[in-house]
Amino acid sequence: MPETALQRSSETLQFDAIVVGAGIAGLYQLYRLRELGMRVCALDAAADVGGTWYWNCYPGARVDSQSHVYQYWFSDQLLQEWDWQERFPAQPETERYLNFVADKFDLRKDIRFNTRIASARWDEGTRTWTLNSEAGESFTARYFVSCAGMLSAPLVPPFPGHERFRGTIAHTARWPREGLDLTGKRVGVVGTGATGIQVIQTIASQVAELKVFQRTPQYAVAMHNEHYDDAGRAELRAHYPEYREQVQHTFAGFAFDFAYQAGEYYRMTPQQRREALDKLWQDGSLAFWIGSFPELVVDEAVSEEVSEFVREKIRARIQDPELAEKLTPYSYGFGTYRVPLEKGYYDVFNRDNVELVDVRETPIEGFTEQGLVVGGHEYPLDVVVLATGFDAGTGALSRMDVHGRDGRSLTELWNRDIRSTLGLQVHGFPNLFTVAGPLAPSTAFCNMTTCLQQQVDWVTDCIRWLRDQGHNVIEPSAEKEEEWVQHHDEVAAATLMMRTTSWYTGANIEGKPRRLLSYIGGAGNYHKICDQVKDSGYAGFEVA
Ligand code: NAP
Repeated sequence: MPETALQRSSETLQFDAIVVGAGIAGLYQLYRLRELGMRVCALDAAADVGGTWYWNCYPGARVDSQSHVYQYWFSDQLLQEWDWQERFPAQPETERYLNFVADKFDLRKDIRFNTRIASARWDEGTRTWTLNSEAGESFTARYFVSCAGMLSAPLVPPFPGHERFRGTIAHTARWPREGLDLTGKRVGVVGTGATGIQVIQTIASQVAELKVFQRTPQYAVAMHNEHYDDAGRAELRAHYPEYREQVQHTFAGFAFDFAYQAGEYYRMTPQQRREALDKLWQDGSLAFWIGSFPELVVDEAVSEEVSEFVREKIRARIQDPELAEKLTPYSYGFGTYRVPLEKGYYDVFNRDNVELVDVRETPIEGFTEQGLVVGGHEYPLDVVVLATGFDAGTGALSRMDVHGRDGRSLTELWNRDIRSTLGLQVHGFPNLFTVAGPLAPSTAFCNMTTCLQQQVDWVTDCIRWLRDQGHNVIEPSAEKEEEWVQHHDEVAAATLMMRTTSWYTGANIEGKPRRLLSYIGGAGNYHKICDQVKDSGYAGFEVA
């Protein structure tokens, strides 16, 4: 068989564009750039497509967006051919979907798997990027599009003594692909964010003992999932054209927007507000959060009333009142930390084999040979699951050691100050596009498929425009970047999110500069701003 360009590795492989990542964004970017007739290669550290849905194959992993909006819109044929099984699909279904897309559009032939990028450098002379893999291979291209994910760099807390531990340690974002049998084991889960909640509610009935190491309790909303039959699917499919249109304009890229207008909350009686919240709760989705009152994350009184509504729901689920208090959040407002959906999570704590270990006041000290130690007490464990999150927004690119114009380091820049223009390009880094980069809604406040497709379309249009204009380099000016950062910060400052300690502001990583990582001016609004930049001929960007 003749060797393809992608199989050769002894020389530098040259492309027009390199896409890093073969998840939701990367697959679509590859498809779009190939449509332009470009020689494109996608590189991924994983052994197959899927990105987040490849790596996060932990027990209970599931999408928190409804399947009818968590999909690609570019192909009517694809929309007709793919049958979603559930309202909120589990990880295997989502991964199957992405494999289906890769096969249908023959994307694999342009993807190189098992290729982790160790460094990337811009060469001003040749106006190209050179990317080097950990295995020593080199790839050059005019354009470098990072689709490496906003929650893809796992955070592993530096608990002392992990090398001594005789059991198994598994981070949820690096879960063994062959699975991990937890049946009858003594399992500890560290972390109770959206991921930890999914793991805990799934494994509690399988394991012998479950110790949940909780630092911050969460306000989780009860998920209303549903299995679809053909009739249900047909009904949803009939609305796909509407959904495709709606998701472009809403606050968070879903097919719903805030159910109430600004100010309506204050015109309602407490009873009416209660009824409104009850109704939203019944939907069993993130609509209770980003489809409720627009004041929710900016107005303390609204935040407190909604928070108390959710606290009541939590207390009602746990038999032991003292334990219920430990599982109920008070130190921050509902929705200022990413809201998890749950199914059976709180009930798990009524089981005899489950114990909550509060590590807020008394942090985990470290591992022994047998387990974890908290406050001098050893918890013997066979498996420790780290559901401890990510170095969000910046982590994937920071770990890639990217050097732009004049050798400047993106890692050093973002270690000082997290800056970006529209979350899509960074001043000093020509022809680097950062899909799912920081300071765009795609970092956190968006149904991911909506925002990623919008960003990929923007990048594709930009590269097409450059080609049509006879240019081949683009970079935002320092002024344009400052303008975006200031606007981003102004919007962020008005929210209660800034007071919460979570990955939203980088507060989960010691030493990381604090800034709301995600733009919170609304995905629909952001889309409009990006379109305006495009329509203006990329005003504020320097082209050559
Ligand atoms: P996360 O929200 O950052 O939660 C990490 C958890 O680990 C927190 O409870 C944190 O406590 C805890 N933790 C971290 N270091 C610790 C330490 N040294 N000691 C004790 N506890 C520690 O991460 P995640 O749960 O993986 O979720 C990240 C994001 O991924 C979500 O917010 C969501 O956007 C996305 N996600 C989506 C889905 C979905 O759509 N289905 C599912 C899962 C995740 P503190 O809160 O005190 O820091």
